Amino acid sequence: MDSNRTLLQNNDPEIYDALIGEEARQAAGIELIPSENYTYPEVIAALGSVFTNKYSEGYPGRRYYGGQEYTDVIEEIARTRAKQIFRAEHVNVQPLSGAPMNVAVYMSMLQPGDTVLGMDLSHGGHLTHGAPVSHMGTLYNWIRYKTNPEAQGAIDFDALRKTAVENKPRMIVCGFSSYPRNLAYAQFKSIADEVGALTMADISHIGGLVAGGVLDNPCDFGFDFVTTTTHKSMRGPRGGMILCKAEFAKTIDKSVFPGLQGGPHMNNICGIAITMGKALKPDFKDYCEKVLTNAQALASDLTGGGAKLVTGGTSNHMMVVDCVQSFDFNGKVAEKALDEVSITCNKQIVPDDPNPPLRPSGIRLGTPAATTRGFGVAEMKKLSDWMLRTLANPQDKSVLAAVKAEVEELCSRFPVPGIER
Ligand SMILES: *Cc1c(COP(=O)(O)O)cnc(C)c1O
Repeated sequence: MDSNRTLLQNNDPEIYDALIGEEARQAAGIELIPSENYTYPEVIAALGSVFTNKYSEGYPGRRYYGGQEYTDVIEEIARTRAKQIFRAEHVNVQPLSGAPMNVAVYMSMLQPGDTVLGMDLSHGGHLTHGAPVSHMGTLYNWIRYKTNPEAQGAIDFDALRKTAVENKPRMIVCGFSSYPRNLAYAQFKSIADEVGALTMADISHIGGLVAGGVLDNPCDFGFDFVTTTTHKSMRGPRGGMILCKAEFAKTIDKSVFPGLQGGPHMNNICGIAITMGKALKPDFKDYCEKVLTNAQALASDLTGGGAKLVTGGTSNHMMVVDCVQSFDFNGKVAEKALDEVSITCNKQIVPDDPNPPLRPSGIRLGTPAATTRGFGVAEMKKLSDWMLRTLANPQDKSVLAAVKAEVEELCSRFPVPGIER
């Protein structure tokens, strides 16, 4: 019998070739986009399984269709493991990804026009935290808080408290997609309590690091809602989870289904269950510790070589290099030059960026994927040297070719999990 792969190769070579091309691309270079990772081979097996065939509207034990004996098993395992890992009273594992997970929380608790506080997109917040271009941005009255350049780019809690007292928000959202420091959950919570606001922490980027116990867990600080994607530092399939207090369990479940979504993606939920199982093992804590150690090493190697980092460094898995200050060109130029040497990163707006979003001042780097690949502190030093060499000569074809050869030689010794060779 032909394997699934062989069938694809024979019956749709155009798609098969693109798949092989993507595998080769991922293997040849290194991934430094902080929101990406290389998932587990077991998860790839789950994603490509017959669980994708199944309609499972509803929740374990209460479904709208028959044939749920195994879908109930995997969803129940995913929920139980996630609750244990995050010390949460309730969890919903059905959100199809990060954005709908946040929408489900907002729709469950807020009326159109309600006031919500969220971190400004240009200061590291996420699109779904009320950016004007998002639907959520028009539905609610968002008030955006910022970081303080006078305080090394930390969140300005005095200003945040003043804003909260003046505007009496229904909810305060914390979380980020581009902020290299830890969040003071206790401060958010005490401001929220003072003004009677609900609290939501979106830990999408750092979900894995929280699960591994190397960063603070907002569930331990009495947050009402904690949301996380499952495909970033968590290393699972693309998806989202909502953790909440027991008192909101019913409301959240109803908000996800039937409020916002139809059938859950059971192949993804199977992958989430596997990912939660991995996160419960001691190995995962080691992995998370290495992610942080590598980020420290990369940040100090880069600053040692003259690069300027937003907030001066990192306390988590990511860093933002201010390319204009460091190299006198913008992040788009830097992203492109690094792409040419097989180092993938993304251009990034920096706080109070004088440049427009498509040519922002910075790039964002992170270590979860490289750490999964097996890179350690020695490899971080090499990466930093290569990046500095590239960014000192972004137009010099011979430099770019030489660095690319060295990057790809190193990567060839660190296979991508899940790609069969
Ligand atoms: C990535 C991210 C999301 C959205 O996740 P998608 O799966 O891309 O929809 C939401 N919030 C934060 C903070 C994120 O970093």
